[in-house]
Amino acid sequence: MPSWPDVEPNVVPNVEGALGNLEAVAAHVMSPATRLSFPSVVVDGGAGATFWDRTGRRFLDLHSMAGVANVGYGHPRFVEAVVEQVRRLVHCNPAYVLHEAPIRLAQRLAASTPGTFPKRVAFGLSGSDANDGVIKLARAATGRQLIVAFTGAYHGNTYGALSMSSVSAAMRRGFGPVVPGIVHVPFPDAYRSPYRGVDVAESYLAELDAVFDVVAPPEDVAAIVVEPVQGDSGVIVPPQDFMTGLAERARRHGILLVAEEVQTGLGRTGRMYAAEHFGLEPDIMVLGKALGGGIPISAIVARSELMDSWQAPGHVFSTGISPVAATAALAVLDILADDDLVTAAATRGGLLQRGLTEMQDRYAEIGDIRGLGLMLGADLVSDPETRTRNRILAAKVIKGCFDRGCYLTFLAGSVLRFIPPLVITDNEINHALETVEVSLKSALSGKVSDEEVRELTGW
Ligand code: PMP
Repeated sequence: MPSWPDVEPNVVPNVEGALGNLEAVAAHVMSPATRLSFPSVVVDGGAGATFWDRTGRRFLDLHSMAGVANVGYGHPRFVEAVVEQVRRLVHCNPAYVLHEAPIRLAQRLAASTPGTFPKRVAFGLSGSDANDGVIKLARAATGRQLIVAFTGAYHGNTYGALSMSSVSAAMRRGFGPVVPGIVHVPFPDAYRSPYRGVDVAESYLAELDAVFDVVAPPEDVAAIVVEPVQGDSGVIVPPQDFMTGLAERARRHGILLVAEEVQTGLGRTGRMYAAEHFGLEPDIMVLGKALGGGIPISAIVARSELMDSWQAPGHVFSTGISPVAATAALAVLDILADDDLVTAAATRGGLLQRGLTEMQDRYAEIGDIRGLGLMLGADLVSDPETRTRNRILAAKVIKGCFDRGCYLTFLAGSVLRFIPPLVITDNEINHALETVEVSLKSALSGKVSDEEVRELTGW
């Protein structure tokens, strides 16, 4: 056996070559299901809102590794807390023995999420497993089987979570049957709504009522699971009246309201939780991604009494909540508060949104700018009237940004996705805006060929 860090020769035949061409090696040894088709780079380090590759080439990150790096890369207080905890103890599991950090974290999450009622917390490792947990908990707590989820939702890739998701057929292709009892209802997308010119909230609530009438009797529905701002389907902000109507129906029918805040939580939208924008007090809230600042952790925060309805080992994972993950999450919460990053997300989000909206006035191809805080989307269209998605242009813009040192991705085939670390500075936002505009101009003037972006299909 070779000793670390040598690599088994049959996996990576030539280490020198591998260091020079890791992309090719990755294609050889990593499953394609685990890699999305965006421009890629071999990352070596990061600080603040920037990461760099082995050669020192820097990228301003407008993506936060899909909304994980809310406190940025290498925040000194985060690193210090995690390293200190790694030295003391990497792992023990509350399934067996207690550690102070997860208990303190549960207290902090219960106190910081909307609603003054008592809450308890179940930890896990990813947004996906937390959402599987939500299905189990809601069914156990209500004795009902059906779950209402929304078109365009992304809840994750484990079976329960993917069964509630409705954002990409590639998530499901070949994997069926998925978990039964999940009913998808249209989510109000004001920009692409077939109900243009009429009240969007009312029309979509009518769709939900129709589903209650014909396929999902409300007394059989355990939970409505909703992202307060849909992320991966292209940053869709629902109308206030829709969310109010949803909460009202949940209350009326004894259905649990679940705010799925894996992406929107922890300051991203300019409030600690996006549910606050809508005045919601969900029965269950789901957190993940940014919570651990990159160390895997998820949390289901639910009304205390609901947690009485499931028993161990109903939601136990061997590496479920390590002291390191809990310490990392406590550090994230401290940094969000001490550095005032929630306010920063609102003000810097405002700066970015204004810049994008001004850009929209200059380019007919920018059909819509939308989002909350530092969770923004720019929807590129080939015709502002038909609002036809412009994938080629979106791919060319992100490629252009990449070549110019800004890391950006697109969603839903046309939506430039802006979710930078909340520590991004005003200067960096201005630089990002300039880079996007230069890349857009260059793409529109035909300087990038379609062939160059053929493989950048995104989600
Ligand atoms: N929920 C939402 C809203 C998400 O955006 C994501 C990830 N994109 C998930 C759940 C899944 O989280 P994870 O990838 O950590 O399983």
